[in-house]
Amino acid sequence: MAFASIYFDENVCTGCNYCIDVCMCDAFVAGPDKGSVPIMKYPDECWFCGCCVTLCPLKEEGAIEIVTPFRMRGAFKKTPSASSA
Ligand code: SF4
Ligand code: SF4
Repeated sequence: MAFASIYFDENVCTGCNYCIDVCMCDAFVAGPDKGSVPIMKYPDECWFCGCCVTLCPLKEEGAIEIVTPFRMRGAFKKTPSASSA
């Protein structure tokens, strides 16, 4: 089932398309106009690597956000090592 995993803030994103270039899954396509936000055309191809967010020059300003599905949010619990047991 397809669902959006990447969200753009069209008030912040400049449409530079760096995120399109870096996505090795080609999940995005460029927006219809110069400076418009990219379009998530193939959401099922996204595997949540986070490269698009990492490379966005305006990530701190909130131009792009990744939302990981709940079932993929793991939690790691530190266990005592063998030497300390
Ligand atoms: S989300 Fe970031 S990298 Fe992608 S087009 Fe917008 S400003 Fe550029
Ligand atoms: S998280 Fe990775 S696979 Fe998903 S759209 Fe961004 S760069 Fe592509």
